Amino acid sequence: MVRRGRRSGLYTFVAVHSTVRGPSLGGCRMWGYADPRQALQDALRLSRAMTYKSAVADLPLGGGKGVIMTPPAGVLTSERRHAALLDFADTVESLGGRYITAEDVGTSSRDMRVIAQRTHHVAGLPRGQGGSGDPSPYTALGVEAAIRACCERVFSSSSLKERTVAVIGLGHVGLRVAKRCAKAGARLVVSDIDERKRRFADELDANWTTPGQALELDVDVVAPCALGGVLDHATVPRLSCRIVAGAANNQLANESVAELLAARQILWAPDFVANAGGIINIAEELNSYDPAAARRRVRRIGEILLEIFERADADGGTPLTAALEIARKRLAVAG
Ligand code: NAD
Repeated sequence: MVRRGRRSGLYTFVAVHSTVRGPSLGGCRMWGYADPRQALQDALRLSRAMTYKSAVADLPLGGGKGVIMTPPAGVLTSERRHAALLDFADTVESLGGRYITAEDVGTSSRDMRVIAQRTHHVAGLPRGQGGSGDPSPYTALGVEAAIRACCERVFSSSSLKERTVAVIGLGHVGLRVAKRCAKAGARLVVSDIDERKRRFADELDANWTTPGQALELDVDVVAPCALGGVLDHATVPRLSCRIVAGAANNQLANESVAELLAARQILWAPDFVANAGGIINIAEELNSYDPAAARRRVRRIGEILLEIFERADADGGTPLTAALEIARKRLAVAG
């Protein structure tokens, strides 16, 4: 569904990839794209990943994604931004409940409150309004569980004490991942394109480097927590880590990169498994929200990953093929 908003004049997109396991749930990304085709492609690609994410996490949900396309440069006035959220809400409402939106890059739980003025098909509302609030802490909890599962697999111990971890991208999720790893005793290198984030390195007693260098460091774990596409046929040969596990969506430039990682004996936690904590938390909100139950479910990401690694070994595949196989079987059963 593509519509040009009558209030803001901006394009809004909703891609519903699948509803076979229930309504499609996915965040609303507010982002600057050069042209509408790019925004549409992003919505389609991300909605597909959401289908697999929900299926592997065994949530009763399909996959979808929303996009509000802002101009590539310049900041929206607060009035136009508000208008764009209302326009997006109308697009969601027009789908009659097939798609439920939540927050994503560029939007927040406060924005969900604006969207809720025009549609009930919204989740991730602030805690004070019966919602589950910002999903980022749960995504970070899940990424920590994923890193621990990878360490269990590679080093036969899930302990992060004295492990070296490079976190790339210190945003809502990455900073929390870095804090959790530091608290667990890991030695950290952190990085962001935004130099202002450098102050967090001091707070965390971590080293600071550029994103390009962070990717190539000789560390136990690289945790990509910025944007997608960081792993490709140029970057993977330059990696020196044993594990890649992070929050960023769509880390692989294409599926063949998973084979390259396996050939280099670098364990990769499929992103749509490692970063499912936020959606698991939001799905809890669709019943009656219990944060403790949400945390228990999020921690299970570690067990799910260990099962995926075993399957990959047994089938001679990669973690990506094993995770997709689990998702496809669940989708086939759901019809
Ligand atoms: P965010 O916008 O809060 O943070 C992103 C951070 O990455 C910012 O600090 C930004 O400066 C930095 N950054 C951008 N480009 C970079 C680059 N090339 N190199 C290094 N740093 C760069 O976003 P977020 O909510 O923390 O999400 C991070 C990633 O995790 C995204 O890919 C998002 O889709 C994914 N994700 C987030 C959630 C969630 O709950 N927020 C859930 C699932 C997946």
